[in-house]
Amino acid sequence: MAYINVDSVKQRTFDAIVIGSGMSGGWAAKEFTGRGLKTLVLERGRDVKHIKDYPTTNMMPYEFEHRNELTYEIKQKEPVISRCYAFREDAMHFFVRDSEQPYVQEKPFDWIRGQQVGGKSLLWARQTQRWSDLDFEGPARDGFAVDWPIRYKDLAPWYSYVEKFAGISGNNDGLEELPDGEFLPPFPLNSVEDHFKKQLKAQYGNRHVISARCAHLSKPNQIHLDQGRAQCQNRILCQRGCPFGGYFSSNASTLPWAERTGNLTLVPHAVVREVIYDEKAGKATGVRVINSQTKEETEYYAPVIFVNASAFSTNQILLNSTSSRFPNGLGNDNGLLGKYVAFHNYRARITAEYEGMQEYATDGRNPAGGGYIPRFRNLHKQETDFLRGYAAGFRANRSMQEDTTGFGAELKKQLLNPTWGTWKVGSHMMGETIPKEESRISLSKEQKDAWGIPLLNIAIDYDENDNKMVADYHAQMEEMFTKAGFTNIQKTDSKQAPGLDIHEMGGVRMGHDPKTSLLNKYNQLHACPNVYVTDGACMTSTSTQNPSLTYMALTARAVDHAVSELKKRNI
Ligand SMILES: Cc1cc2nc3c(=O)[nH]c(=O)nc-3n(C[C@H](O)[C@H](O)[C@H](O)COP(=O)(O)OP(=O)(O)OC[C@H]3O[C@@H](n4cnc5c(N)ncnc54)[C@H](O)[C@@H]3O)c2cc1C
Ligand code: SF4
Repeated sequence: MAYINVDSVKQRTFDAIVIGSGMSGGWAAKEFTGRGLKTLVLERGRDVKHIKDYPTTNMMPYEFEHRNELTYEIKQKEPVISRCYAFREDAMHFFVRDSEQPYVQEKPFDWIRGQQVGGKSLLWARQTQRWSDLDFEGPARDGFAVDWPIRYKDLAPWYSYVEKFAGISGNNDGLEELPDGEFLPPFPLNSVEDHFKKQLKAQYGNRHVISARCAHLSKPNQIHLDQGRAQCQNRILCQRGCPFGGYFSSNASTLPWAERTGNLTLVPHAVVREVIYDEKAGKATGVRVINSQTKEETEYYAPVIFVNASAFSTNQILLNSTSSRFPNGLGNDNGLLGKYVAFHNYRARITAEYEGMQEYATDGRNPAGGGYIPRFRNLHKQETDFLRGYAAGFRANRSMQEDTTGFGAELKKQLLNPTWGTWKVGSHMMGETIPKEESRISLSKEQKDAWGIPLLNIAIDYDENDNKMVADYHAQMEEMFTKAGFTNIQKTDSKQAPGLDIHEMGGVRMGHDPKTSLLNKYNQLHACPNVYVTDGACMTSTSTQNPSLTYMALTARAVDHAVSELKKRNI
């Protein structure tokens, strides 16, 4: 006779399980615990406590062994992660090293991962824009990828809900293609950014430069102070973790809020290998977890499971969750799990100089990063030979310059009297890419990781649509820069591999039809409705906007649905 330790099973049984404690998992934890559900959050990385575990946050440049630069050895050993702009001495402890967690690049892909409590929410650049119906209706309009099962009106109240709690700075700009939100005061444009804004308005009418919308507390409300957060001090050292809680992260905001309810159990070092599917019950009953340190295996149980491990890791977990009902991965009846993956095309840049406005200079720092140019191509009709469009960042700055010619006293005098240089302006493209069936991730048949889980195989590439978009961005921006009086215009195409945008999406896409999608309009797996996916894996198309605000809104909406379904005993 087999004995079951009933107490042990009880201790490992919760009302809800959330896999991953990053941007979207933090929101799932907050929403479940706030509704009174005993919630288990499983995180494969180590614990990172707000403030206490930000070791570099107050360090001066000279305190870093290599003055915050990367050494030749690191670049050789970790070529992928070294290409990420934020991987420097001050924040490298928040990134996964290539050498420690390899993956298979069937085609080159720079996979940037942050695996610790808080995930990549510690590292992100905090750019936050709502999507509009231009984005949600894109696939239905041009027939590439399936129709989204939701529209802007379904998400609008949830955007408001998460914005109020997270704290987003910005202006209500009144643009149909970029809906307004619940904003804290914006970080203002500087004089040359404002000049460009006025020039575009005057010369085109329908092209705009707005203050970048950003998850920073420019002026905190009571709800932010209640979280223990304070006004952003414009230090721009955010990727180190902010001791003021000036920007939104799971560590500063959603997780401590969830903890305060007394309903949160957070287990770090817990690598979820698979979701357990019970054939008899016809639903998922829990998850199988390996302790990353001891390799001990444990099962946890709950009536509802949220998979928020970040887009590709979520695909990996579902592909690895096989059973006789789902031999090709959980919910994968149509064979599309891991397919129709897409990303953002960040290859193109343009820089120039401006001889005007010599009477002005910049003073202080703008943590929002300057201006944002919302998509202006193919808005109301197809006007180019490529599908969809691109948004762009825009910033202008001016720095002090020293004359280093000469010797002795003359040189000393020059060095002590720097003068302002010319204004430099720059922009980068954020292009939408089209999800295609051949853009896919799958499990390696040969190679496994240190915990016995098959490595992820990534086969994603640019296509002709992306190349045409780069050419159009360069042509349009050059025209716009010229009209604004900018000179010495330089265009570059970095030809970087996909991935450095850090906006990979799809593989478990939402849709109306179980034959062509994996998730329904509430982010439930069509074939296993007590499993929800609300991170980037659920995205049907990619839009041009930054995606994380949409993951947050989808997550809050899905938890609301899950709790109501649990109450009705529908799941
Ligand atoms: C430098 C940088 C700049 C960025 N800038 C922006 C920006 O300006 N705007 C924007 O919208 N987005 C930005 N992003 C992207 C943004 O960070 C992500 O979209 C967001 O964090 C994704 O949230 P997530 O919950 O899906 O994943 P994450 O935040 O990555 O969290 C996933 C968590 O799941 C855990 N996990 C993974 N596998 C398992 C497993 N098997 N078992 C248990 N736990 C697991 C991970 O350890 C991780 O903690 C940026 C990212 C970086 C790195
Ligand atoms: S800019 Fe603001 S959010 Fe970023 S580190 Fe400084 S105070 Fe914190």
